[in-house]
Amino acid sequence: MHKQSIASLAQGLRQGDFSSEELTRHFLDRIHRYNGALNCFITVTEEVALADAREADRRLRAGEAHALTGIPLAHKDIFCTDGVRTSCASRMLDNFIAPYDATVIQSFKAAGAVMLGKANMDEFAMGSSNETSYYGPVGNPWDTARVPGGSSGGSAAAVAARLAPAATGTDTGGSIRQPAALCGLTGLKPTYGRVSRYGMIAFASSLDQGGPLALTAQDAALLMNVMAGFDEKDSTSIDQPVPDYCAALDQPLDGLRIGVPREFFGDGLDAAVGELVQAAIGQYQRMGAAIVEISLPNTRYSAPTYYVVAPAECSSNLSRFDGVRYGYRCEDPVDLMDLYKRSRGEGFGAEVKRRIMIGTYALSAGYYDAYYLKAQKLRQLISDDFKKAFVEVDVIMGPTTPTTAFAAGDKLNDPIQMYLSDIYTIAVNLAGLPAISIPCGFSAGLPVGLQIIGGYFKEAQLLHIAHRYQQETDWHARVPEAFET
Ligand code: GLN
Repeated sequence: MHKQSIASLAQGLRQGDFSSEELTRHFLDRIHRYNGALNCFITVTEEVALADAREADRRLRAGEAHALTGIPLAHKDIFCTDGVRTSCASRMLDNFIAPYDATVIQSFKAAGAVMLGKANMDEFAMGSSNETSYYGPVGNPWDTARVPGGSSGGSAAAVAARLAPAATGTDTGGSIRQPAALCGLTGLKPTYGRVSRYGMIAFASSLDQGGPLALTAQDAALLMNVMAGFDEKDSTSIDQPVPDYCAALDQPLDGLRIGVPREFFGDGLDAAVGELVQAAIGQYQRMGAAIVEISLPNTRYSAPTYYVVAPAECSSNLSRFDGVRYGYRCEDPVDLMDLYKRSRGEGFGAEVKRRIMIGTYALSAGYYDAYYLKAQKLRQLISDDFKKAFVEVDVIMGPTTPTTAFAAGDKLNDPIQMYLSDIYTIAVNLAGLPAISIPCGFSAGLPVGLQIIGGYFKEAQLLHIAHRYQQETDWHARVPEAFET
């Protein structure tokens, strides 16, 4: 059962081949067997899962089932879950039991999906390797000595090892697409405002966006049908009708114009990764698409721009963790200042503190114009590059990451190198666009991701284009050997 897509599991449930309780127990057994090696779950919600599964079985029998009813899922531990610890992989929230559900979680509950547990991640979603978690690093199922990517590394590793059929993630600068690429999955970062951020612990509010990590584009479409939509509780949610993301998956690709930015194939790109990505683009050409060389000249400023904007927003968002209202509190504070200082000093990890300091500095009087305001201007130029490109082409293709999964520990002490692993994904968040990463081959046994970027609200088109490729190739169906059975 663990090798099947959600689409086929849903069919099995409907036909009565197995119950949701059997399916859920199967995945829980796998989690018990393999989580020790991967550390991809922070919390396993066995009792919740079995109760959800029994209720799903009742709905299935009563003929009240939705497409996802009875399907087990893992949720990144950044989504608040009522009555279940929501840690954001931080000591600061190690003891935090959310008193409500994030809208995304509520939507999955309403659809009858089953929650297996809360997935490991980089602390407060800051990182590209899942090594900044308070609960320890996550292994990549393709080679456990390597990183799964981050920050949604636990979600990606869980799905790649078939410990969950699919998972939720969030993407502020690449955190769905980059781990999808490094673990051989399909990961979609939706248009900013498409998926509610209510109850999703904030890192950088103008960039954060939730989305699915799945085995196939079709599965990602099934998840998007539940996740996407207007939410009055999120002031940046956009009130636009949600299409059926599964409706157009099988359309032909004829006439599709693919832009290939020359800036995405320059220095720093691993040669084997570049070749596999070019080969995938060639495949699209054979399937009827036209290839157009384009330029996104300002994307070279995206990392420096992002590393001003994201820390600035994080310094403001994380100021709420003060040791007073909830979360970690230091022992025996002598006065209020001591309480603040030690609670934050002891509760946050090194990367989070680095970001808070950079952000606070960039926003401080006298530096605001030089850094934050300048970064906002660059952000506009980066968005304008995409706007111009989408006059000429329908979608943009390139690599998701410059390299395959790197060895654990490799970049941990070199933040700049770590930040550069998102060099191709960050511009998309700055512009608020949707983008998907799909597996397009292997280099030395490690998966490589193809990134496809679309215009605003073109998620259905991205899923369609990805699905067509997955009809022609089987990279997405490969299972890491150690987790086959
Ligand atoms: N790796 C990037 C960072 O550390 C992006 C993280 C994310 O998308 N949440 O900020």
